[in-house]
Amino acid sequence: MSTEEPLVGRLAPSPTGLIHLGHARTFLLAWWSVRSRGGRVVLRIEDLDGDRCSPEMVDAAKRDLEWLGLDWDGAARLQSTGIERMAAELAELEARGLVYPCVCTRGEVRQAQSAPQAGDAEPRYPGTCRGRFASREHAAQRSGRTPSLRFIVPEGPVTVRDELRGEVVFDVAASVGDFVVARRDGAPAYQLAVVSDDAYDGVTEVLRGDDLLPSAARQRLLQRALALPSPAYVHLPLVLDETGRRLAKRERDLGLYDLASAGADPRAVVAWAAQSAGMRVPDRLTAREATAAFARDRLPREPVRLDRVTLEHLRQAR
Ligand code: GLU
Repeated sequence: MSTEEPLVGRLAPSPTGLIHLGHARTFLLAWWSVRSRGGRVVLRIEDLDGDRCSPEMVDAAKRDLEWLGLDWDGAARLQSTGIERMAAELAELEARGLVYPCVCTRGEVRQAQSAPQAGDAEPRYPGTCRGRFASREHAAQRSGRTPSLRFIVPEGPVTVRDELRGEVVFDVAASVGDFVVARRDGAPAYQLAVVSDDAYDGVTEVLRGDDLLPSAARQRLLQRALALPSPAYVHLPLVLDETGRRLAKRERDLGLYDLASAGADPRAVVAWAAQSAGMRVPDRLTAREATAAFARDRLPREPVRLDRVTLEHLRQAR
């Protein structure tokens, strides 16, 4: 009997916008990393952000992945199908006193900041509601607001082992504070949902953009609290545009849908993604053909730039 753990990766698009070239590259690399070692890939559509997800966008996400030549094992699963499991986990955390109801608004959290933070960094939650209410009902009655639930972050360092960067140490209590695990509308927040789902899907490797590296520390804390396994993490530096900014979902000219509609060749996109990740491949090939060229030790440690010339090349009709 083999004691080796089966290798399972995942594609986890949020259908809140169009999949662009930056996401495409991450999905391809996540897929190659697993497929090159004979592992399974699950597709999970992260549709919990209710207001922004539509059924058309779910179909669009699948269509874009298929255009890239990616496949997955089993049927695509919507994250929202796991809501009951997540509610049970939240109830467990509540029963063990590891979370508390919070009625602070975003504005109040921001105002309570001692020093404003630069850019879009999330403000640290100062713990205003910690120990304030006996239950969610009590919080609602006393404040007239529907509470969210926050996880009590223990003091001290949290270490994330990342395959590219080694051990990265975060101080979640000092940088983020107690974070939201259930939103006001009752839906599980991203950090809880992703931890719950990765465990449920048996995911052993998470390859994603390094904008989510700080989140990995929060996810480690939740995995520990819920006694769930932690997958191996690979956080990849993102794709930047010519001016050095992150590619945004609203930039339509970078969207796969527009590329596909304009008759672009997915094999050119595949080649660009592969070459940007140090893979030695020809200028056009399918995702499947590139699999054997995947080399984890050549993954870049720096962001890659997508310049105009490359973009024009990728948009050319075949
Ligand atoms: N659904 C998330 C996104 O598209 C990815 C979450 C994750 O990889 O943990 O940004």
